[in-house]
Amino acid sequence: MTGLYLHFPFCAKKCPYCDFFSVSYRRETAERYVGAVLRDLAFYQVEDTVDSVYFGGGTPSLLSAAQVGQILDTVARRMHLDDHAEITLEYDPVGRRSAYLRDLRAAGVTRLSIGTQSFSDETLRLLGRRHTAADGRRTVEDAADAGFREISCDLMLAVPDQTQARLAETLDVLTQLPITHVSAYLLQVEPGTPLSKDEALLARCPDADESADRYLQAVRTLEAAGLRQYEVSSFARPGSESVHNLKYWTCAPYLGIGAGAHSCFGGRRFCIPKDLPAYLAAETPPEVTLDDAPCGTEERLMLALRLTRGVPQDDLPAGGRRTLPALVRAGYVRLHVDGRVSLTPEGFAVSNAVIAALLET
Ligand code: SF4
Repeated sequence: MTGLYLHFPFCAKKCPYCDFFSVSYRRETAERYVGAVLRDLAFYQVEDTVDSVYFGGGTPSLLSAAQVGQILDTVARRMHLDDHAEITLEYDPVGRRSAYLRDLRAAGVTRLSIGTQSFSDETLRLLGRRHTAADGRRTVEDAADAGFREISCDLMLAVPDQTQARLAETLDVLTQLPITHVSAYLLQVEPGTPLSKDEALLARCPDADESADRYLQAVRTLEAAGLRQYEVSSFARPGSESVHNLKYWTCAPYLGIGAGAHSCFGGRRFCIPKDLPAYLAAETPPEVTLDDAPCGTEERLMLALRLTRGVPQDDLPAGGRRTLPALVRAGYVRLHVDGRVSLTPEGFAVSNAVIAALLET
């Protein structure tokens, strides 16, 4: 089974912390861009069944429902699209767009990933988001009313002024909404972003210990609400784990289409450069090969250790097996009865160091 990722690199306004590839939205450029995406869908031969389609960005909810439908019709015509494919669209919850949500559902979208981030207006303002807490809440409710059964919300952790009490308020709202999935990310300060230069705001971000506390607070609250952790940043009700995102962590094939998209497809890892004019002008996808022998043993292990199902102990290199007892005693790693090992929430809070120790040769 193959996943299809479609990158839509347009945003209404750039958020100060974001370093994803996106430019200001212009309707005409977006229309030309959809044309280029259709061109590329016709270019690739995908022999496998496609069981997930993911509209990411940027802000794909700036696409009209008709454009989304046109893209999905082309996918269904050109590829073997599974009848039960997961079709996700990332959604920016600005204002209230009930009719649009219903039209997206009718166009074939089955799952929304809503960029709620927080249910504190103060936090949303500090993050430079365009939506309010009420927008986020109503969008989730409207999506459920529009017939979406699979709804994911983004939750941002370690943001400025995020005390335990403020995060608890957000988690309280989040866990009462009709959602099936949460993606919980720690705010990363990416070089070159406006946030990275805002000393005053950075001084208000939690330090590493407080960030780990907020992360563990989120894990415990989400788990208690029935949203089980299945990956370092991902939580789901049973059966609602993201089919698409699991491909990234299990080294399953995925084809990325659009400027800035990455692929692991046909035994190669490649990307399309983040160059919109070049992408629009190209006749075929302007691929750049990154790796022609991807998914080696170490990479597979590193990705699989992000999952709570972990890896068989015997798959770890000798150094990792030697370090294992100390990591278990410290509470960072769990040994399963079937011989698998996985990180605990405390281990995920410092996952880079723990995974590096488990991969020692
Ligand atoms: S809406 Fe999303 S992709 Fe666009 S700038 Fe903000 S965080 Fe980045």
